[in-house]
Amino acid sequence: LTTDNPSEPDSSDRHASAVSTTAEAADLSAGVQTAEELAEARQYGQRQLVCSLIDKALDVAFLAVMALVLARPITGWLTTITENWTLQLLALFAITTLLHVAVSFPLSFYAGFRLEHRFGLSRLSLAGWLWRYVKMNTLALVFGGLLFAGLYWVIWLSGAWWWLVAAAAFFVVSVLAGQLVPVLIMPLFYKIERVETPELAERMSRLAAGTGLSIEGVYRFDLSADTVKANAMLAGLGRTRRVLMGDTLLARFTPDEIEVIFAHEIGHHVFRHIRKMIVVGAIYSTIGFWLVDRLVMAWTGHVDPAVTSAHEMPVYTLPFVMLVLTLFALLLEPLQNAVSRRYERQCDRYALERTGMPAAYVSAFQKLARLNKDDPSPHPLEVFLFHSHPPISERLAMASE
Ligand SMILES: [Zn+2]
Repeated sequence: LTTDNPSEPDSSDRHASAVSTTAEAADLSAGVQTAEELAEARQYGQRQLVCSLIDKALDVAFLAVMALVLARPITGWLTTITENWTLQLLALFAITTLLHVAVSFPLSFYAGFRLEHRFGLSRLSLAGWLWRYVKMNTLALVFGGLLFAGLYWVIWLSGAWWWLVAAAAFFVVSVLAGQLVPVLIMPLFYKIERVETPELAERMSRLAAGTGLSIEGVYRFDLSADTVKANAMLAGLGRTRRVLMGDTLLARFTPDEIEVIFAHEIGHHVFRHIRKMIVVGAIYSTIGFWLVDRLVMAWTGHVDPAVTSAHEMPVYTLPFVMLVLTLFALLLEPLQNAVSRRYERQCDRYALERTGMPAAYVSAFQKLARLNKDDPSPHPLEVFLFHSHPPISERLAMASE
């Protein structure tokens, strides 16, 4: 998914009881954020940053304890229940995931529910938030279980060169996921329907003309069920390729502003960003799996000298593999974000040129900043490390170039 706006699309949370939040009651206008709004946006951004740093540290610490301390005794116990390696692996994955949920729940609750309410952004009730949380973790459990079972089968069957086979399999899985996520997974969280407003449809088909993006592919999703924030994205591959516009955005932005945002999304299609991301992912995964191979073999050689080939990779190595993959993803994040920010700038430029409406572009981003409480100019180091989108101040500056 190529999501578009500086805030994560999945920071879901809400408050069904509140009829209207303060953000909603205030008139949403363009123009720069007031000093008060800026201070609030900065505070929100800082809290989010702290939460995400703690979250990353917690993930690494938890997996390290699992991998180095708990994995072998737990697997020993599982061996007394079943001899089947696949079942042991699935059970170990489930235990690891559930323990991780237990350990990270307080932070998830604070960052996903409390913080969002505190800043008047969430519309989820506690029950609604919990339901989403359960759904998301169940999906992670099921798909993660299937993926890791598949990975270990590849390791057991292909031996020394497993990492190359696994990278090829990962490529196939990401293409399939690219096709299926917007039609199978997104609808589990949002009601998605085609945009039918004639005026918007006309603008959109005009912009989409000649880009190969079918007008059949513009959809609205009910983001307002969980947040006041606005968002739009391009998702899917081939026949499932579509632009998804949050209903919050369609309701509160002018047709010109919507057109600019839509043009930005078309830019992702024109420049084939999803396809490029999948190719980049294939390169990363090859390196990542190779690294896993080297480190796991070195580690098992140390703790379990009987293991001499990947054909007999023990089940208890699973959390270690997860730890290496997590660390690798963390190291790669700044690089991936740099690529993503480059893509976003490319699409911003495309939107400006294609629509020729710099004023609507500026007001759209000002409204996004105001609505989503985005800090327009976060610290450059924070941007470098963690942001997949350029700061709003930079995106606004582009309009006057
Ligand atoms: Zn974008």
